[in-house]
Amino acid sequence: MKVIVSAVLAAAMAGGVQAAPFEPSELETARELRALALESNLGYEITADLTTRIGNRLAGTENDARAVEWAVAKLESLGFDRVWTEPATFPTWTREHERVAITSPVEQELVALAIGFSPGTPEGGVDGEIVMLDDLAALKAAPAEDIKGRIVFIRERMERARDGSGYGPTRAARSQGSMVAAEKDALALIIRSVGTSTNRFAHTGAMRFDAGSRRIPTAAVSNPDADQLERLIELGDPVRVNVDIGAQVSEPYTSQNVIAEITGGERPEQIVALGAHLDSWDVGTGAIDDGAGVGIVTAAAKLIMENAERPERSIRVILFAAEELGLWGGRAWAEAHKDNIENYQLAAESDFGAGPVYEISARVSDEAWPIIEAIHAELEMLGIAMGGRTQARGGPDFMPMSIHGLAAADLSQDGTNYFDYHHTENDTLDKIDPAEMAQNVAAYAVLAWLAAQSPVDFGSGPELIEDD
Ligand code: ZN
Ligand code: ZN
Repeated sequence: MKVIVSAVLAAAMAGGVQAAPFEPSELETARELRALALESNLGYEITADLTTRIGNRLAGTENDARAVEWAVAKLESLGFDRVWTEPATFPTWTREHERVAITSPVEQELVALAIGFSPGTPEGGVDGEIVMLDDLAALKAAPAEDIKGRIVFIRERMERARDGSGYGPTRAARSQGSMVAAEKDALALIIRSVGTSTNRFAHTGAMRFDAGSRRIPTAAVSNPDADQLERLIELGDPVRVNVDIGAQVSEPYTSQNVIAEITGGERPEQIVALGAHLDSWDVGTGAIDDGAGVGIVTAAAKLIMENAERPERSIRVILFAAEELGLWGGRAWAEAHKDNIENYQLAAESDFGAGPVYEISARVSDEAWPIIEAIHAELEMLGIAMGGRTQARGGPDFMPMSIHGLAAADLSQDGTNYFDYHHTENDTLDKIDPAEMAQNVAAYAVLAWLAAQSPVDFGSGPELIEDD
């Protein structure tokens, strides 16, 4: 691994003195950026513009193409040195309709959304008796004869947590439940929404799309409807439901990752990468997921462009395509750039709404760790704690490259309320607090600026250990 050490740092290390890794003027700029970002509304304005002009933008739709055009025009108008697109190709999915209704012992309509990549049902839907299970593990363990010809209902509840840790475990049923239930010849799968809201709307999301695997029609019902269904089942009489889904898995579509660069003055080939994803679900307007991230990282870079001297390394903003349908933009980007990974210095993606950043953690080499500590010192007054050395991924779209060793930092956001709105009709601009968003912009601006000035080459980080 190549390590570049500045003369100042090398001298200090030789003398056994704790070196300050950054020049005073660099720290002064970081503090200016921090203060300016807190006063600026630019991130919020960018998110408002995207979600108002385009609205939701499911990957592969006309609105996705319009969002790409919007992003190119927006980034060009902000004055980046270079703006370009790189293709990402993926299977697409279209929602036509969904209706889930209890038909016996009493007729009741449930509020539902089909899960992405769900197949449709025959016209009029499928009717069956419900078999209620606790979670995906229970479905895996259930004898096939208990499942065959029935409609599976998974009742697992997502736990609310600041770090969003309740999401992973409950997402498993959404992601894999359809394939597992199909193997056991269930008619359809209903899941409790993967979300923490008690409001009567459902949370969509994607199921895993394994080529060749069979899937069955799958929908999430709103959490109050899941409660209702559970109580009705617990009364003891057989409960029958009708699940009627219209959906199409369509031809592969090629969208674009949209990339903008502030070209570095001294080591332009080395890149600090800030990410967000441009696509969203087809409900709501994709404001918190991930219009917020688009605004945050774009505004952070713009503030650097306007208020700092030209950074030593290049800073790139990457607005990824088709994250929601399965990280297709991130995978295409990793495929295109993994052979050049030594030039990618540090990556961080904002994809968790606009709640305040409360912690920084990172996965970097031993040599680069003091740099992360020095960056943290400039983030502390934003209320950001040191989370330490972790399996940081830098966000979902950087994960495919992190597996190859891309160094990454996570600016963890308070996600206590994120899953009240995530992937719902209620993901709209009003859920974003402009002041909290400005704190995010400040954190990304400080991180990107100082990472670009780092006297130590981040090189690649320790390889990410995949836990999925
Ligand atoms: Zn997202
Ligand atoms: Zn999402």
